[in-house]
Amino acid sequence: MSGKRQVFSFEEGDGKNKQLLGGKGANLCEMTQFGLNVPPGFVISTEACLDYLANETRQLPDGLMDDVREHMKRVEAATGKGFGDANNPLLVSVRSGSAMSMPGMMDTILNLGLNSETLQGEIEQTGDARFGYDAYRRFIQLFGKVALNVPDELFDAEFEQVKQKAHVTEDVGLSGDDLKEICERFLTVFGNHAGRPFPEDPYDQLEIAIKAVFGSWGGKRAVDYRREFNITPDMANGTAVNVCTMVFGNRGDDSATGVGFTRNPGTGENKLYGEYLVNAQGEDVVAGIRTPKPIDHLSEEMPEMARQLAELREKLETHYKEIQDFEFTIERGILYCLQTRNGKMNAIAMVRTSVEMVEEGLIDKEQALLRIDPAHLEQMLYPRLDPDAKADAVAQGLPASPGAASGRVVFDADRAEIFGKEQGQKVILMREETKPEDIHGFFASEGILTSRGGKTSHAAVVARGMGKPCVAGAEGISVDVQRREAHIGGLVIREGDVVTIDGSSGNVYLGEISMVEPDFTEELNRLLRWADDEAYLRVVANADTGPDATRALKYGAKGIGLCRTERMFNDVDRLPVVIEMIVSETDEQREAALDKLLPMQRADFKAIFEVMSPFPVTIRLLDPPIHEFLPSEQQLLADLEKLHHLRNSVRGMEVLASSMILLHDPDQAKQEAASMRQIVDIDMVEKTLKKKETMLKKVRALTETNPMLGHRGVRLGITFPEIYSMQIRAILEAAAECAAKDLEVHPQIMVPQVCTSEELKKVKETVDRIRTEVEAEFGHKLDFRFGTMIEVVRACMRADTLAEKVEFFSFGTNDLTQATFSFSREDAENKFLPMYNQIGILQDNPFEVLDEKGVGKLMDLAVKWGREKKPDLSVGICGEHGGHPASIAFCHKAGLNYVSCSAPRVPVARLAAAHASLLNRK
Ligand code: PEP
Ligand code: MG
Repeated sequence: MSGKRQVFSFEEGDGKNKQLLGGKGANLCEMTQFGLNVPPGFVISTEACLDYLANETRQLPDGLMDDVREHMKRVEAATGKGFGDANNPLLVSVRSGSAMSMPGMMDTILNLGLNSETLQGEIEQTGDARFGYDAYRRFIQLFGKVALNVPDELFDAEFEQVKQKAHVTEDVGLSGDDLKEICERFLTVFGNHAGRPFPEDPYDQLEIAIKAVFGSWGGKRAVDYRREFNITPDMANGTAVNVCTMVFGNRGDDSATGVGFTRNPGTGENKLYGEYLVNAQGEDVVAGIRTPKPIDHLSEEMPEMARQLAELREKLETHYKEIQDFEFTIERGILYCLQTRNGKMNAIAMVRTSVEMVEEGLIDKEQALLRIDPAHLEQMLYPRLDPDAKADAVAQGLPASPGAASGRVVFDADRAEIFGKEQGQKVILMREETKPEDIHGFFASEGILTSRGGKTSHAAVVARGMGKPCVAGAEGISVDVQRREAHIGGLVIREGDVVTIDGSSGNVYLGEISMVEPDFTEELNRLLRWADDEAYLRVVANADTGPDATRALKYGAKGIGLCRTERMFNDVDRLPVVIEMIVSETDEQREAALDKLLPMQRADFKAIFEVMSPFPVTIRLLDPPIHEFLPSEQQLLADLEKLHHLRNSVRGMEVLASSMILLHDPDQAKQEAASMRQIVDIDMVEKTLKKKETMLKKVRALTETNPMLGHRGVRLGITFPEIYSMQIRAILEAAAECAAKDLEVHPQIMVPQVCTSEELKKVKETVDRIRTEVEAEFGHKLDFRFGTMIEVVRACMRADTLAEKVEFFSFGTNDLTQATFSFSREDAENKFLPMYNQIGILQDNPFEVLDEKGVGKLMDLAVKWGREKKPDLSVGICGEHGGHPASIAFCHKAGLNYVSCSAPRVPVARLAAAHASLLNRK
C-alpha cells in the first residue's frame, strides 16, 4: 500500500490538479463542484497508473480495488442504482485522460456493468429491449477491443451480416431481436478471439478495464502522439481513469447526444457551435457513422433543452474564461455535461476569440496574447485557392479545417507515410473516415479528405488541431481502399493522382490549383499591435528586394535585419555583368564591370530604403563564394564539346567544298562554302570558344573542396576589395540621394564571416574613405551604422575585440550552427540528422531549432563579452532561427535587441517576442 490517495470522487478532487487527475478528470471534478449537472463518478489518479505500469506483475496497486469499491458505493447511493444489481443496474463509462489533451489517443469503454443478468434488469427498468441489447452490443465490442484486443473488423463483419439479413442500411433500422442476435454473435466472437468467456462479474469487468486504460498510456498510438507533439513527462505522466455513471442519449426521441463548442472553432464567431443526434450515443457523433444535425436545429426539436444548453455554454465560458469543447447528453429530458476541455481551434478562430473576449471583458490583453501559440499563427498565413483560378469542383464535402492543399492521393495512412514522409512527396490522405490509428498518416499529409463524418468527426478535429486543411463527409466520393481508387460518379481517382482540397469551402478539385497569399484580418492586426506593445525584442525581416521589403512591412516588420546582396546579383540583367567582373583578367577590366554594377546596386538599395523609411535597413556585403555565379565545370565542358564539334563540322564542310572543286564543279563548291558561312558565323564560334575556355580556367581556379568554409564573406572583400568598395559606395550614395530628398533612412552595413578584428579594420577603412568622398560629393553628413555578423566560432571568442570596431552584432546562426556542430548545412538534414532525431541522439534539427546548449552558449558569451567592451552594442539574429518561437524565447533571455526572419514569419515572431517578454516578467 503506497499510502497515497488513489481515488477521488468528483465532489472532492482538486479541479486544478491535472497532473494527478488528468485534464478530463480534473474538469469533471471542477464542473461538479461549480454546479453543472455531471453524472456521479470518481477519478483514479495518474500516480496509480504509473505505479501499475512500474509493476512488472501487472497487478493494480495495493488497495486500489478496495478504494474503487468504496467509491462505487457512493455512486450507487447518489444514483439509487446498484453495480451488478439485476433489478436496477448501475452502468458506468471508463475513460482515460492525461494532463495533456490527446484526443482519441487512448481508450474508453462504455456501458460497463452489463452482463446477462443486469441486461435483463436494464430491459425491465426501461421497458425497452432494443435499447438494452444496443447498449450491450456496444459494451461487448468496446470491451473486447480495448481490454482484449479483439479486432473491430470481426465485430463489424457480424454486424453487417445481421443488417443485410434484416434488409436495413441504417443501425436505427435494426429491431430488438436483431440486436439480440448481434449480442450473441459478439459474445461468440469475443470468446473465440479472447480465449475466455466474457466476464460476467462487473467488478472483474471494471478491474480489467482499469488495467486496459492504464496500459493504453504505453500503447503505440499514445507514444507516437506524445513524440510528435513533444509531450514530455513533466507535461503529462500517466493517464487517469474516469469512472462515470452512464447516461443515455439513446433512450428515445426525448434523448440526444452531442458535442458543442462555446464558439465556432473554424471562424471564432461568438455563437454556440456543434452537432447532435437524437436517440443516439456519443460515439455515433464522433465516429461519423450517422450524419449529425447542426446545433441550431435543437431549438426547433427541443426548445427547453436548447435554452438549457445556451445556459450551460454561458456558465462554461464564464468559469473557464476560455472556449470550451464539451460533450453533452440529454436523457429523457435531462441535460448532462459529460466533459469539457479547452477548445482546439484554428488560428483564425483563436485570434478572433482572443480579441473579442478582451472586448467582452472576459480576459485581459495579456491572457489574450498568451493563449495563442505563436507557431499556430503560421496557419493564418497559409495560402488559399486563387479566386481567379477557374476550376470546377468534382466533389463537395464539409469545410472541416480551413486552408487549401494539393497533393497526390493516397488511401491509407501507411502509404501516406511512405510517399509523404519517406519520399517527401505532397500527399492528400483520402479515407472513408479516419480513426485514431491513422494519426501517422495525418502527420505525413498536406491535407485530409473523407467521404463520411461531420465537422466534429475524428478527421476534422485532428486536422484542425494540426492546422492542416480538411474536407470531411464528401459523400459523393466512394473510396475503394483495396483497389486504391475512388469513384465520383463515373470519374476514377487512382493513387498518385493529384487533387486539391479547399478546407474553407469544402470543395475538391482534380489537379493542382494555384494559390494566393492570405490577407491579414483586422483582428490579427489588433492582436499583433498588442504584442508589439509587450515585446522587448524588435522584429525585423530578411528581405532582399523592394517587393520583399513591401511584403515585410505588410507583415509588420520594423526594418530589415538582413538584405543578402548576392540575391540581386542573380538577376538576369546582372548576371552577365557579374560574370564579366569575375572573369576579368586585369584590374581595369574588373573596374569596368563594377562601374556597370554600381548604378544597378544603388538603384536596388534606394528602392529598399524608400519602402522601409524610416526603419533601419541592414545590408550585408557580398557573402557567397563567387564561383556560385559561374556555370559549373561540367556545364562548361559540355558547352565546349558542342562548340568544338560545331567548329569541326564547319571546317569539314569547307574541306568538302574544296574537294568538290576537284570534281570540276567549282560553282557548287563556292555556293556550299558560302551557305555554310551564312548559317554559322565561324568567328563567333571561335570567340565563344575562347570565352568559355577562359571561364573554365577561372572556374577551375576558384574551385574549392569546401566552398562554404572557403573563399567567401569578408575573405572575398579583402582579396577583391573593389567588390566591397562598389557595394559600400552604392549603399552610401543611395542613402545620400534619399536624404537629399528628405527621406529618413538608416542604413546598416554588415560584414559577413568575420573571424578577426583585423578584417573589420580593413573594411572599416574602406567605409571611412568612401564616406568622406560621398559626404563631400553630396555636401551633407551620412548617418549609418557599421556592424558584423557573428557566424564563426572565433568571432564569438573574440567578441570583445570585434565590439570595439562595430556598432552592432548580428548572429548568423545558420553558419554558426554549422561551425559549432561541424555539420554541413548543405547535407546534414538529408543524411544523418533525421536518424539522429529519430533515435534521440538529438532532440531537434539544430538548423531549425536553435541549439541553446551549444550554439546558445557561444551566443551568451559573445553578448556578454561584446557588451563589456561596448555597453550599448546592439545585438540581433538573422539566421533561420530568428523566426522560430522557442529560439526567439532564447534570444530574449540572452539579451538580444532584435530578431530578423523571413517576411511570412514576422507575425509569428512578433507574438513569440511578446510571449517571451510576458513570461519572463512573471
Ligand atoms: C547565417 O549564416 O545565419 C546567415 C543568415 O547567413 P546565410 O544563411 O546567408 O549564410
Ligand atoms: Mg551565413
